[in-house]
Amino acid sequence: MEYKIALLPGDGIGVEVTREAVKVLRLIGEKYDVKFSFEEGLIGGRAIDERGVPLPQETALLYQRSDAVLFGAVGGPRWDTLDYALRPERALIKMRKDLGTFANLRPAKLYSALIEASPLKRSVVEGIDLMVVRELNGDVYYGEPRGIEGEAGEERGYNTMVYTTGEIERIARVAFEVARKRGKKVTSIDKANVLETSELWRRVVTRVGREYLDVELTHMLVDNAAMQLVSNPGQFDVIVTGNMFGDILSDEASMLTGSLGMLPSASIGGRVAIYEPVHGTAPDIAGKNMANPLAAILSAAMMLKYSFNMDQAASQVEEAVIQVLDRGMRTQDIFTEGCQMVGTDEMGTLICQEIKRREP
Ligand code: NAD
Repeated sequence: MEYKIALLPGDGIGVEVTREAVKVLRLIGEKYDVKFSFEEGLIGGRAIDERGVPLPQETALLYQRSDAVLFGAVGGPRWDTLDYALRPERALIKMRKDLGTFANLRPAKLYSALIEASPLKRSVVEGIDLMVVRELNGDVYYGEPRGIEGEAGEERGYNTMVYTTGEIERIARVAFEVARKRGKKVTSIDKANVLETSELWRRVVTRVGREYLDVELTHMLVDNAAMQLVSNPGQFDVIVTGNMFGDILSDEASMLTGSLGMLPSASIGGRVAIYEPVHGTAPDIAGKNMANPLAAILSAAMMLKYSFNMDQAASQVEEAVIQVLDRGMRTQDIFTEGCQMVGTDEMGTLICQEIKRREP
């Protein structure tokens, strides 16, 4: 068995954390007799520096012909003043669109060893295990018209929030299917009290929900959801929401778990799925061997599960993460007193050693 993985590290800590995820995947390949071949491509800021565009044609061809994409993160202050269409982040948006990955799965699970790293009280966060299913191809990020017009000093900036019935139906189905394999609860989040887009969203999700009578469906307004996520997060199993609300709420959910550095994601729906940590390029710690690679490593575990049907290997990676955390090993973002601080590469090596120790 051979799988081609397009490796797109991007910028900043994207490079450091994907290196550790590759180490883990190579080891899993050896252990399970599966060949993972990695081909690296330029994307984001580095691609702008070397090719003048955030997404060179050769990178687009590379991900199209791969079996899965392992992506790091793109962007940084160096490129912030560029024209919007040339910014590193445009590459990611274009790749998601090209690959038709309309569903972003973002699990937020609190590992018991990290309870002290969560900013919330133990009683609030204990046992959190939720999945945010975020729509990825629509909403105000893609809606037309968009722009800034008018004279300097009196300009007008505008974007368009838009969802079609079909787009809502397919993301709702992903959420209900995911919930069926978990706690059988879906909370759909919108702003139906003010936005027509949300009114349609709620109507369509309710209709799709009638096909999944074994799954409990509730609706919640996004402002209330933001509050409930920090006051009573244990009530959530699967959260389904649009692109922008999902962007914000999943970062909020990640803080429940202690660090953005712990949060993996999968973008699925097309032939080729994208696996990436939720965090960005962290310019403040880039190049210092301080980044937490666990989000990237757990993203690799999601790749094993969703793209290659290697559920057992995926569980081994997750168990290795739990074991290493239980032994008190921590990168700086999740460090608490009494633990041992390790760097990015050391954390990756520890996970590999733990996987090696386990029977296949
Ligand atoms: P960020 O996620 O890069 O960093 C936010 C904070 O979390 C920082 O203090 C950072 O040090 C910390 N952090 C993030 N990941 C960490 C990890 N793995 N280990 C330890 N600490 C970690 O968000 P930001 O600062 O808002 O954005 C920085 C750049 O990244 C911007 O250019 C932004 O556009 C880009 N970005 C890219 C993506 C992406 O490519 N998917 C996502 C978000 C932000």
